[in-house]
Amino acid sequence: MESTVEIDPNLINQLNAMGPEALLAWAFETHGDRAGIISSFQDTGCAMIDMASGVAPELRVLTVDTLRLHSETYALMDKIEARYGIEVERFTPDPDRLRKMINQHGLYLFFDSEPKQEYCCQVRKVEPNVRALRTVDVWITGLRRDHSNLRSDTSKATVVQEEWGPIIKLAPLAEWDSARVLKYNEAHNVPINPLYAQGYTSIGCAVCSTPTLPWEDKRAGRWRWFNATSDDDKECGIHTQGSGI
Ligand code: SF4
Repeated sequence: MESTVEIDPNLINQLNAMGPEALLAWAFETHGDRAGIISSFQDTGCAMIDMASGVAPELRVLTVDTLRLHSETYALMDKIEARYGIEVERFTPDPDRLRKMINQHGLYLFFDSEPKQEYCCQVRKVEPNVRALRTVDVWITGLRRDHSNLRSDTSKATVVQEEWGPIIKLAPLAEWDSARVLKYNEAHNVPINPLYAQGYTSIGCAVCSTPTLPWEDKRAGRWRWFNATSDDDKECGIHTQGSGI
């Protein structure tokens, strides 16, 4: 069933004034299984899952599995499922679109050009994410303002207009920085991706994300062959383009 939610503009202001745990509690108490944390199991997502497990009557976690993630990320998903007693809902690329793309351009098309990288992200990430979004009225993300220049004005609550209707998009930890997330995860013994210990600061598909150096932007390790250090425009499309496909 797709979104039929009606959104009161005052509600968004109220949500923006709430703290992370209150936001998570509101999402699941008010919208039940029409709320979901859509996570790629980076540090913020893991912290939010832990927080929500303490306040949500029932927790729903969804992910986009591009089929090209690091083995460490797949192992972490299993750990999270076991720790919180949940089944992560995995949205994978459409097999026909994937086959067509690989037949035409090969498995490593993203090295060729930015349009081909964007095509790959569209097939493996954006379209499966749209399918996930069609199942929620409240989309809870791990976006943070300190991730990049592009994300520096991320709101804790906003409305996304999809072609099938509006969705409330929450970023409960938008105001936190990586040190605060790390502190939370350590204090609560939250399982996190071991790739952070290898210098990764942003973790996506195995080939397309690499470790960063201390002076680089957090998303500098993404698609490094296009743009070595700047975080400008380093987005896959999930959070930047209209996701109505
Ligand atoms: Fe494809 Fe790389 Fe985008 Fe993953 S991050 S979907 S492999 S281009």
